[in-house]
Amino acid sequence: MTEKLYYQNIWLDRCEATVCGCEQTKDGYAVLLDRTVIFPEGGGQPSDTGSINGVPVSAAFERGEEIWNCVQTPFCEGDKVEVTLDIERRRDHAQQHSGEHIISGLADKLYGAHNVGFHMAEDYTTLDLDAQLTDEQLAALERAANEVVQRDEPITYAFVHAEDLADIKLRKTAKGLQGEVRIVYIADADSCTCCGTHCKTTGEIGYIRFSSWQNYKGGIRLWFLCGMRAVENAMQTRAIVDAVAKRFSTKTEEVMASVVRQGDELSALKREMKLRTDALLTYRCAALLTAAEKIGDTKLVLHQEERLSAADLKLFTEKLTHTEKSIAVLFSNTGDALLYQIAASPGVKLSMREVCSAVNAATGGRGGGKDDFAQGSAKAQPGMQETMEQLRVYLRAAIKSL
Ligand SMILES: [Zn+2]
Repeated sequence: MTEKLYYQNIWLDRCEATVCGCEQTKDGYAVLLDRTVIFPEGGGQPSDTGSINGVPVSAAFERGEEIWNCVQTPFCEGDKVEVTLDIERRRDHAQQHSGEHIISGLADKLYGAHNVGFHMAEDYTTLDLDAQLTDEQLAALERAANEVVQRDEPITYAFVHAEDLADIKLRKTAKGLQGEVRIVYIADADSCTCCGTHCKTTGEIGYIRFSSWQNYKGGIRLWFLCGMRAVENAMQTRAIVDAVAKRFSTKTEEVMASVVRQGDELSALKREMKLRTDALLTYRCAALLTAAEKIGDTKLVLHQEERLSAADLKLFTEKLTHTEKSIAVLFSNTGDALLYQIAASPGVKLSMREVCSAVNAATGGRGGGKDDFAQGSAKAQPGMQETMEQLRVYLRAAIKSL
């Protein structure tokens, strides 16, 4: 049995101990101590880290009443050793864990929302509630949780026999408990059975900050941070808002209005741009059709544009083929790629899918489509004159043969 000194003093960061056993494992060695300040993983909390006589302890685990430490160097039974704890990691874990108690307890008291999942990772913590809370309710919960922190009230414990638990009103009681059980009381915010590490008072949590939330399995998943994690997150958020404010040459409190205004301006410009593109393409369309070669009753428009988007290229082919009976084969050089779209007016017998195969072969591109419309793309190519001439000869013959 290992004496758990972290239950006597949560901030004790070193102790003398005696080695009671050492086993070789697949990753190194596991060392059993008679007493320790290193908390093993359990109750959703990751393991502490530390050292034994300066040899790093990467993790600790529980086996019955014994605590074993993972190290890379063997120790001999009976060795007198000094055990040290990574106190900053312990503080961080205790703050996240104690904060989770307060949020869970208050969510239950204020809204009847139950904690149905908790995950503490190296850089974030999530808590799942079984009710969908509004943004306003979550803001009230965050404020109430920080009020408990501000009051700096003691976190206390009671030890009872598992059989007596049924008579004690707690927010949560772990299942399958036997023997002596520890109950933690987090001020008046929470009470439950728990084996984890907690701060001594709520004030030691420092700060509880909700970083984001989303709907999850009919309830809500909440990401939150406590202590220095919350402080760092607040500083990062401020840096982002400050950078945006600088970009807009405005005060921090006016950033949102500036972003909304710029979004509205952008939407108005897009609408204006669309109208102008439409007008420009109508004009270009008339010029191209006037100059186009007529084969039988069908005009042939073979043309290349610079930096026209796929959407504008489609608008262009539609305008051409809806204005006069024609076949339009349009290319757009976007710098990185050569886009092409091929369309025919109603009544043209030639399949655009067939024409697309010829364009694919001539440009080394890939594309396909239906009888009246096809599209594709190829790598950008420097000179298109020869390719255009080759396609003109092919299309002339194809239209004539209809
Ligand atoms: Zn706990």
